[in-house]
Amino acid sequence: MSLTRLENFTLSYQTRQGALLCLDALNLTLVQGQITALVGESGSGKSTLAKALLGLLPGNAIIHDGSGCLVENVDILSLSAEQRRVFRWVKASMVFQAAQTALNPLRPIGKTFADILDAHPEAPRANIPELLQEVQLDPQRVLPSYPHQLSGGMKQRVVIALALLLEPPFVILDEPTTALDLLTQATVFGLLRRLQERRKTTMLFITHDLSAVAQIAHRVAVLYAGRLIEEGPVDAMFANPQHPYTVELIASAPRLDRPGHRPQRRFLPPSAGYRSPECCVFASSCPRSDSVCQTQRPPLDNDPRVETSFACFHPEVSG
Ligand code: ADP
Ligand code: MG
Repeated sequence: MSLTRLENFTLSYQTRQGALLCLDALNLTLVQGQITALVGESGSGKSTLAKALLGLLPGNAIIHDGSGCLVENVDILSLSAEQRRVFRWVKASMVFQAAQTALNPLRPIGKTFADILDAHPEAPRANIPELLQEVQLDPQRVLPSYPHQLSGGMKQRVVIALALLLEPPFVILDEPTTALDLLTQATVFGLLRRLQERRKTTMLFITHDLSAVAQIAHRVAVLYAGRLIEEGPVDAMFANPQHPYTVELIASAPRLDRPGHRPQRRFLPPSAGYRSPECCVFASSCPRSDSVCQTQRPPLDNDPRVETSFACFHPEVSG
């Protein structure tokens, strides 16, 4: 059984204003063969976490001592640049935020597929026409086309097919459908879920859209200001959220039965400085905050009465 896990994973960005703590002692194990949704407001660290898992961090990222990052049993932090190149695509791949704009405008789609195959001659590979049909694209039409000849939804499906080309066991999708209209989004979700079920791919699906989570994910991990504050099965998370931030997040999700109902959210930016504050990062916005929350860091814990793990001294279940 392979394991994908972040252990005490802590990362800062070096900036002109000094160090910015971005991911704060994350402990997260992804369940194999399932889709975990990673949710959190913009700036909470989702894309950074994704890039860390694939060893694609920018040069100003500093991983703190004591951090662990295992993907499909591979210790990412110990790989050389060449090992990382092979690992990416073959063991793990990623659909980036706005990936469709990254397709080379000067190359027909078929050549882009060929480039990846050429770069990884030893890797297993999917049959390209079959793969395109799986994402509901007509190979004869798509392969000779240039990106500008395809619609946004088609390009997005091309990018998803590229990520699955070498049949990696682990795939990250970073807000893969935000540029698409709702109907196309729903199609892409359905398709991703079917592909995932057939291949038993482990997926990390990053989004800030909770309706997408309900449609596609098995599990949910909630990031707030670089900390993992709650994690668990999707049904338990929606039915019985424990952390006050998760409660608020779910309550403020746009409701189909109440169009236009979008209460305001509060959000703290990630902590300035290299060190983690000794408090709950939600304390200053939290209705239940007390002196304990302001002076101690809540660990991510289990409570036998609920199915999620949460980092809160005053969870729903206690009140
Ligand atoms: P999300 O994907 O949840 O919106 P990101 O991981 O993109 O969050 O960013 C988390 C925080 O890290 C933000 O405050 C962002 O400004 C900062 N950040 C991201 N990339 C860099 C970088 N290369 N250098 C400095 N700060 C960065
Ligand atoms: Mg992002």
